[in-house]
Amino acid sequence: MSQYFSRPLPRILAIMALFAAMLAATVTTQVVTATKAHADGCYTWGRTLSQGMSGEDVRQLQIRVAGYPGYGAHLAADGDFGPATKAAVQRFQSAYGLSADGIAGPATFTKIYGLQDDDCTPIHFTYAELDDGCGGSGYDGGPLSEAATKANALQTMWQLEAMWHALGDQPLSITSGFRSISCNNSVGGASNSQHLYGRAADLVGAPSLCTLAKQARYHGFGGIFGPGYPGHDDHTHVDIRTTNAWDAPNCGI
Ligand SMILES: [Zn+2]
Repeated sequence: MSQYFSRPLPRILAIMALFAAMLAATVTTQVVTATKAHADGCYTWGRTLSQGMSGEDVRQLQIRVAGYPGYGAHLAADGDFGPATKAAVQRFQSAYGLSADGIAGPATFTKIYGLQDDDCTPIHFTYAELDDGCGGSGYDGGPLSEAATKANALQTMWQLEAMWHALGDQPLSITSGFRSISCNNSVGGASNSQHLYGRAADLVGAPSLCTLAKQARYHGFGGIFGPGYPGHDDHTHVDIRTTNAWDAPNCGI
């Protein structure tokens, strides 16, 4: 009898040891994850980035500096760190008083971490501010998937963050951002409106609609419609299309 019970014991010990090992592995994994999350809840860069490199980390950087392409230009978030990305990083660095070497290292990433929330939106804008313009919420009901629409909205917000900073961090409000198809129809928006794709924002605020329209030209906004353009005397529309269509006659644009 005692022999019968004593035989399985080593197996039980072995199973217990296995569980202990698995538990230890789980705890280790959680600690590593928690450390990364502590560095930044949104995205953590693991290497210094410079011209000639490529990857998802480059693309994530490009989204953050998309508002610094230079006058009338547009930065593609394509994951390839070319001369245009270097120039955009330099402008970003200059805007925040960093050494403008065009190399994204710890100082640049620390600045970016300080500028973003845990959902990767820049600190002065939120997904909720840009979602359904007809009083709904969320990013569904447009021609693109919800994820693709949100990705567009994210880049729009980073370009707006650059503009906000260039204008001296003055109050800036969004009166309409993403519009679902039904929302766009109800407000009489154009059938190919950039608002449908999460790529547009209607702005009001400091210091004037014309100042907003003029400044937008430096931050990658291909679509700018403001005072003097039909239906745009009470807001300035900006969108992230990559072919310039600027029209704000009362602002000299
Ligand atoms: Zn608009």
